[in-house]
Amino acid sequence: MFELEGVAVSYDKVEALAPTDLVIAEGETLVLLGPSGSGKSTLLRCLIGLARYRGSLRFRGAPVSDWRALRPRLGYVIQEGGLFPHLTARGNVVLMAGELGWDRPRIDARLTELAELVDLAADQLDRFPGELSGGQRQRVAMMRALMLDPDVLLLDEPLSALDPITRVRLAGDLRDIFARLGKTVAMVTHALGEARFFGGTTALMRDGHIIQKGAIDDLVRDPADPFVAEFLAAEEAL
Ligand code: ADP
Ligand code: MG
Repeated sequence: MFELEGVAVSYDKVEALAPTDLVIAEGETLVLLGPSGSGKSTLLRCLIGLARYRGSLRFRGAPVSDWRALRPRLGYVIQEGGLFPHLTARGNVVLMAGELGWDRPRIDARLTELAELVDLAADQLDRFPGELSGGQRQRVAMMRALMLDPDVLLLDEPLSALDPITRVRLAGDLRDIFARLGKTVAMVTHALGEARFFGGTTALMRDGHIIQKGAIDDLVRDPADPFVAEFLAAEEAL
């Protein structure tokens, strides 16, 4: 789905992402794991054309020339959910579909379908983000990301700000949704438990580099570098 060759991002003198090669296969769930500041969000932002990168990034075999045209095929949940506070949940979810000229019946049918999928009660769609719990906000953010039925889901720490019970519940629901929809998923987290829970491939990052990529159990069993062992041990310790 994505092929990156030497993709890199610098801000002033900070190299947020060192030249990176990465292939994300169609239907794959890729977890970007690593400590704060390791470049996870920056890499995700490259995949949706929001970071100014060098190098070559191909989507379905072709270089991306027009990110605006591609964006409806990419569902994105930014860190902290990023809902517009002045719009209701419904307003947030339907924003793009409205701009694309969907008619009311189509929008309403899709809303009903998605509320069921993410297990959000219909009456909560009339609330503003500030009137929803953290878990409900993330469910709305997922609905917004899924509204246009994208090919890819890009999720930046969708579970981080939640209490443990809400987090486990939403994690289970997300895993079911990924399996049911068969989307290509790239998900950022700093939690080893989430990498293990979602399975698939994990890319462990540090200082803008992917240090090791593979099944999480293989990283635990055979760390490529002392940092990998240290990060994984620290994550197990607490
Ligand atoms: P992570 O998501 O793993 O916590 P980020 O990708 O957000 O890490 O950041 C990687 C590095 O790039 C950090 O050192 C961060 O401070 C820097 N950085 C990220 N975004 C910007 C920006 N817009 N301007 C300047 N520096 C940035
Ligand atoms: Mg981040």
